[in-house]
Amino acid sequence: SLTAGIVGLPNVGKSTLFNAITQAGAESANYPFCTIDPNVGIVEVPDERLRKLTELVNPKKTVPTAFEFTDIAGIVKGASKGEGLGNQFLSHIRQVDAICHVVRCFNDDNITHVSGRVNPIDDIETINLELILADLESVTKRYQRVEKMAKQKDKNAMVEFEVLKKVKDALEDEMPARSIDFSKEELKIVKQFHLLTIKPVLYVGNVGEDEIQNPEENENLQLVQEYAAKEGSKVITVCAKIESEIAELEGEEKEMFLEELGIAESGLDQLIKASYHMLGLATYFTAGEKEVRAWTFKKGMKAPQAAGVIHSDFERGFIRAETVSYEDLLAAGSMTVAKEQGKVRSEGKEYVVQDGDVILFRFNV
Ligand code: GDP
Repeated sequence: SLTAGIVGLPNVGKSTLFNAITQAGAESANYPFCTIDPNVGIVEVPDERLRKLTELVNPKKTVPTAFEFTDIAGIVKGASKGEGLGNQFLSHIRQVDAICHVVRCFNDDNITHVSGRVNPIDDIETINLELILADLESVTKRYQRVEKMAKQKDKNAMVEFEVLKKVKDALEDEMPARSIDFSKEELKIVKQFHLLTIKPVLYVGNVGEDEIQNPEENENLQLVQEYAAKEGSKVITVCAKIESEIAELEGEEKEMFLEELGIAESGLDQLIKASYHMLGLATYFTAGEKEVRAWTFKKGMKAPQAAGVIHSDFERGFIRAETVSYEDLLAAGSMTVAKEQGKVRSEGKEYVVQDGDVILFRFNV
């Protein structure tokens, strides 16, 4: 399954945030596909639609969907034998599908900063530069090899060479590969390079306790936002310290605490949603009387593959997907009415499942 890796310099609040993640954490028993590893935190995906569907169907049980965060710092700290720390770090970044880069924006004189003062752009660049250099090394090797083939008029090599040039230029300007606009064809080629800097990044600005109502006033955060905009990345604001307090609460208690703090949604919930989106994940629902449940699929999956998320038998024996959009079902008020209104479609093997679809799979066993 896809995972987002948490990175950042020491003392920026990564462990505090990761603790919040594991505390809010989902019971791994509900999610047998998830990894059991102290450096992996399973989070349930907050989804208002699931609550509404539960009200509508009134099932015995409701199960949210979940995915994983990996604490890269934790792994690197725990396993520094053999390889140097730098290589460990890079090899773990290689294994994640997206990156959550935690940046210290809070000012607190009691907590030392590794370089003596809080400077978010320096911090970000310290890590990004390491990734850029690693990519530059592998791209340069490939460049030299492909250049020779391109000179011999090898058609594929000539196309690849152009892409390599584009990537190399950007990296030499200290820009990550994700900041480059690639055509669809180019993107297919770039994928073969296995670049670290092509992975999507979400910057997580960790602001102070007294700042979560107006994070925009934090100057460090403003700098992070400007930096992120240049490479086309998103920024989320959290206060790791408060998130770890919120994570201990549930339901009404949590809502009351958020109200007291004067915020509509916890930073952690925003982080979870943004990371899910960044990983290219989406949700469909099954809604029976026994169970209303959210399922994660990768955007672009066709109906049989999406059915396979529930069980491989569903994929193998797939016949049809009886599908209604969440909005149509909610507007109709019940499945029966939605059917009468003609809103329930019978979709076949080629149907591309949409976020929010409520599906009943028909299959042969
Ligand atoms: P890591 O090294 O990046 O994992 O950082 P930690 O999570 O261990 O945090 C380093 C220190 O900063 C700890 O003493 C935390 O309590 C503190 N810290 C983390 N987040 C916040 C925050 O939002 N506000 C304040 N004031 N301190 C924080």
